[in-house]
Amino acid sequence: MAQLDLRELHNTEFPIPNEMQGNVAITSLSKIYNWSRRSAMWPLLFGLACCAIEMIATAAARYDLSRFGMEVMRASPRQSDLMIVSGTVTKKMVVPIVRLYNQMPEPKYVLAMGACASGGGPFKEGYNVVSGIDTYIPVDIYVPGCPPTPQALLYGLIALQKKIDGQSLANLDDVPWYGVGPNEPTPIPILGPDIIDPRQMDLIRHQAQLAAQGLPYGTREVPALKPVAPSVPKVAAKAQAAPATDEDPAKAERLKKREEALARKRAAEGGAAPTAVAEAAPVVATATASEGEKKKFDKQAMLEKIRQRKAGG
Ligand code: SF4
Repeated sequence: MAQLDLRELHNTEFPIPNEMQGNVAITSLSKIYNWSRRSAMWPLLFGLACCAIEMIATAAARYDLSRFGMEVMRASPRQSDLMIVSGTVTKKMVVPIVRLYNQMPEPKYVLAMGACASGGGPFKEGYNVVSGIDTYIPVDIYVPGCPPTPQALLYGLIALQKKIDGQSLANLDDVPWYGVGPNEPTPIPILGPDIIDPRQMDLIRHQAQLAAQGLPYGTREVPALKPVAPSVPKVAAKAQAAPATDEDPAKAERLKKREEALARKRAAEGGAAPTAVAEAAPVVATATASEGEKKKFDKQAMLEKIRQRKAGG
């Protein structure tokens, strides 16, 4: 337990002479009760993933949790006041975590250590990870980081101590464990139906409405199949149109164009176009044949013509 300094407990309404402040304290029951609790918090001894290593470092000699009266980590939830959720919370582990939380006596507190425990962290929306432990149990303090340093965890623990200092026995909203009757235990999630994907909420709500009306639910609606036209004539037509070869159609097209160009060249030189090409592309063959009948270009005659025009102009 941390060393007692009576000055922390003084109530300012009743001033005490300076020379007596180290020996006498006039305080309220809430204040001394909160001071006792927050100076001797016993964390539950468990860790989930990499953040747990930092938690262990915080408890070791360099950072020394015992300065806060927290060095007594308990292996039993029955003797613990504080649950430090240090690490990734998988869907499988959330069930025992909630069970352990229910087994802790009140007053009890929860500290979510690191990005994973606070909101899923780098594994958020992973198939096996819950998006933050606060979906299942109430969290008092969040410590950000991946992982948080021991200093960050100490800062979170000091923040928790301040929160406890602010509670009052006179206000039952602050300390519900002094209310009438025992508190309801937190529902333990069932691995499977209770650990749901929040993105499916609309579907889940719809199915819940169907179930409430006594209608069948949980069945998948398969869209109606579109009627498919018989494909045999299509294939047959394709087979007729395509050449009896399994060559690439683009390659066949290139070959065809090359043959047509060759035919045009032959026609221009005065030769006859091959029959096969003429049949395949009659329009082109006709055009090339008429070009072949044209007179050859006479360069000398053209120059003479230009000269005459210049002389005349
Ligand atoms: S927050 Fe980072 S360091 Fe902590 S458990 Fe998740 S991945 Fe590991």
